[in-house]
Amino acid sequence: MNNREPIIAIDGPAGAGKSTLARELARRLGFLYINTGAMYRAVAWKALRDGIDLQDTDRLGALAAQSIIDLRGGVDDMRVLIDGRDITEEIVTPGVSRAASIVSTVSGVRRALVARQQEMGRAGGVVMEGRDIGTKVFPEAEVKIFLDASNAARSERRYLEDLSRGKTAPSLETTQAEIEERDRRDSSRSDSPLVQAADAVRIDSSVLTVEQVIERAMALIAARRSENAEYTE
Ligand code: C5P
Repeated sequence: MNNREPIIAIDGPAGAGKSTLARELARRLGFLYINTGAMYRAVAWKALRDGIDLQDTDRLGALAAQSIIDLRGGVDDMRVLIDGRDITEEIVTPGVSRAASIVSTVSGVRRALVARQQEMGRAGGVVMEGRDIGTKVFPEAEVKIFLDASNAARSERRYLEDLSRGKTAPSLETTQAEIEERDRRDSSRSDSPLVQAADAVRIDSSVLTVEQVIERAMALIAARRSENAEYTE
């Protein structure tokens, strides 16, 4: 039993709509929003910049442990900093996405980032999105949502996002192949693979509108809060 505000864990594969949902929940509840994928991306960005071999697990673990990663700003203007440098725009490229997927298989990297995530969310009142939040970072989270969608829906969403960024977007087929490769790596790694926590509620965003996904999540949060209130009375 504790008196802190709840922790809301949102996990799921790439392109399922986790950021859209997590941001909107944080906005409506007045909670802190933490995007853990941005932290893996920051480590990947620095490894690429420093020319570190992505197979060199010892160096990657040391790099993650020694870097200062900050998530600043609110829900709508979150900035990602590493060692004081703002890299928000630089970490969304296909190259960094691919490298983040590789560095996130390294246990030393996960250990360093999970410890930092636990510190950031410990006080509660937080919506945290990632791949292992409900299973590893906060297994005790009051609300766990596993947001999923069909491969086709996720690839199309990512493709449209890339296009809207105005960059030379890869083709839909390339985006789909990259997403499948990242999914395969996330689900098959030995340390904290992407799996649905036993007590997570699965929402399939390919058959729902954004508003319907948000409504389901808000209803779940309200139900868990009233269960908790009954239990602690
Ligand atoms: O969520 P996003 O796609 O930005 O995450 C980038 C990469 O970081 C993912 O492909 C995944 O491999 C990894 N990741 C992870 N655990 C998390 C969040 C992200 O392994 N909690």
